[in-house]
Amino acid sequence: MLATLRRFVTAESPSLEKTAADRCCGVIAEEWSKHGARVERIAQKHRGDILRITHAPGKSRSSGQLLVLGHYDTVYSTGTLAKMPFSTKAGKAYGPGTFDMKAGIVQALFALKALQQTETPLGKRLVFLWTSDEEIGSEASRKLLETEARRSDAVFVLEPSFSPRGLLKTARKGVGEAKLIVHGRASHAGLAPQEGINAIHELARQLARIEEWNDFRRGVTINAGVVEGGTRTNVIPERARAVLDLRALRVSDMRNLERRLQALRPFHRGARLEIAGGFNRPPLERKMSAALFVRAQSLAKQMNLSLGECTVGGGSDGNFTAALGIPTLDGLGAVGGGAHSPREHVLIDAMPARAALLAALLSTA
Ligand SMILES: [Zn+2]
Repeated sequence: MLATLRRFVTAESPSLEKTAADRCCGVIAEEWSKHGARVERIAQKHRGDILRITHAPGKSRSSGQLLVLGHYDTVYSTGTLAKMPFSTKAGKAYGPGTFDMKAGIVQALFALKALQQTETPLGKRLVFLWTSDEEIGSEASRKLLETEARRSDAVFVLEPSFSPRGLLKTARKGVGEAKLIVHGRASHAGLAPQEGINAIHELARQLARIEEWNDFRRGVTINAGVVEGGTRTNVIPERARAVLDLRALRVSDMRNLERRLQALRPFHRGARLEIAGGFNRPPLERKMSAALFVRAQSLAKQMNLSLGECTVGGGSDGNFTAALGIPTLDGLGAVGGGAHSPREHVLIDAMPARAALLAALLSTA
């Protein structure tokens, strides 16, 4: 598993560099082809190609499908390996994309190998989909992964687990981004202040109102992460804008937040507000993973593993599949930490057990 992980990690695959990503895609395709699975490479214009791997059960009549979902793109640009090489130390494997989520792809590969070698009968066709733009919002792969999810009875997402305990992610917040732009009127701050409409003052009042919408208990957050506006101190600013991060655990809260944003009205009668954007990933509500989690937990117990769950604030492609009403279990990937940082690593010893758990899930669904 470690040798395979090394091959995947040493092929750098930033979401925004197609040539490099395609090379990594080829390495992953080659590994999967070795095991007799049907590997299709779906060409992409601007992003790395997508891999779709099918493994049909022996039976002639297929009775459904299970989707194993993940991405091979990483947040690290090419050349990162020079500063952050693939290495192992004290039971951990380090390197860009080890945890998020190339080790997950390795675990899935070994799960499939185990199912083949043990000739475990499968009730359903297995489809593994490895996409290339999850880290930048999945614009290019979304349609494909949603189409595949609609054909499936369940979706297993190989995103990293949470904490050294390897918790599954049974709920994820929906995530969005909105821009609030205030249009005022410029004027000389000394000569004609009465003729100006200060866009910064208006924006500040709007932000104070918006801040009150935060409801940590319900999992609703709104964060002004960027503000800008104005030119000089003696000019009443004509324009100011804020970029907001939006998160919600429930679909109803997501809609409510979007409605409230659209309903904002200026405090100053002469100011004009422009609101753009909204949620780009809906929440993965816990009810969409509850039944699968119970099954995963009981399978884990038979393997003498304890399996916990958690709710996280970040989204994944599991948010899309759950929003379609397809049962989705996320965080089945590697155990480790430091995602998107120089400390990114996986716990090597946890990899076989996680692969075994996935194999058990795929053979009992
Ligand atoms: Zn990821």
